Amino acid sequence: MDDNLDKELYQNLSDYLKDLAALNDLKDSAPAEYRLDDHQNIVVRTRGSLEVICGPMFSGKSEELMRRLRRAMFAVSDKSVVIAFKHGLDTRYGASELLSHDGNKFRAIPTKCASTILSQSSSSHVVGIDEAQFFPEAIVPVVSALVKAGKKVIVAGLDLDFRGVEFGPMPSLLAIADSITKLSAVCAKCGHDAPLTQRLIDGQPAAFDDGIVHVGGKDEYQARCRLCHVLTKRSVLSERCDGTPEELLRF
Ligand SMILES: [Zn+2]
Repeated sequence: MDDNLDKELYQNLSDYLKDLAALNDLKDSAPAEYRLDDHQNIVVRTRGSLEVICGPMFSGKSEELMRRLRRAMFAVSDKSVVIAFKHGLDTRYGASELLSHDGNKFRAIPTKCASTILSQSSSSHVVGIDEAQFFPEAIVPVVSALVKAGKKVIVAGLDLDFRGVEFGPMPSLLAIADSITKLSAVCAKCGHDAPLTQRLIDGQPAAFDDGIVHVGGKDEYQARCRLCHVLTKRSVLSERCDGTPEELLRF
């Protein structure tokens, strides 16, 4: 994240904290959990929560995220209070939709910037974020600020990369979550429960130190169980001690 993004993020966060302070002032003069909006309508304040849905590829994370967002929409007359974001890097499917592998869709705003999520969620009650593993660490304070502002935040993402190493900001998001749903897929080799993602290049298992761009090779991913998951070359421990290039964490 560059300096400008940093500045924008912290400005937005400080605006949020001011809004929170204003809400706390209101609490003293209004019944708990209720306040009046600009049009004198009663707005119910929720306590805010964070739900994290994680698991390997093909485990149905996007589908589960969409199910929860659709359920939230049934409960409200103003559908605009439910908003979804997806990482801009995920161009496998439609640019402005969440899409599951089985073809279901949900309108979503594509962005690579955590600060955009903060600024565009101000009037929403429920905020969905897909492919959270691709976002920078700045997504963690943003999600915290949204939860503190009383919003229900639902995040979906890969908890582990193809090497079985924690993926991006997911460990931090899991640590601050109110509830965690860890899904498993079906192993493409043996049919057992699969907690891991296998990366294949030209049909062969990728090595730990294979970069994100493999010139001339065709990348493919499968869900695999621990017995069928194959990783060659350097060990996880020696690689992590040496420091891992960021590109390796993204596939
Ligand atoms: Zn297997």
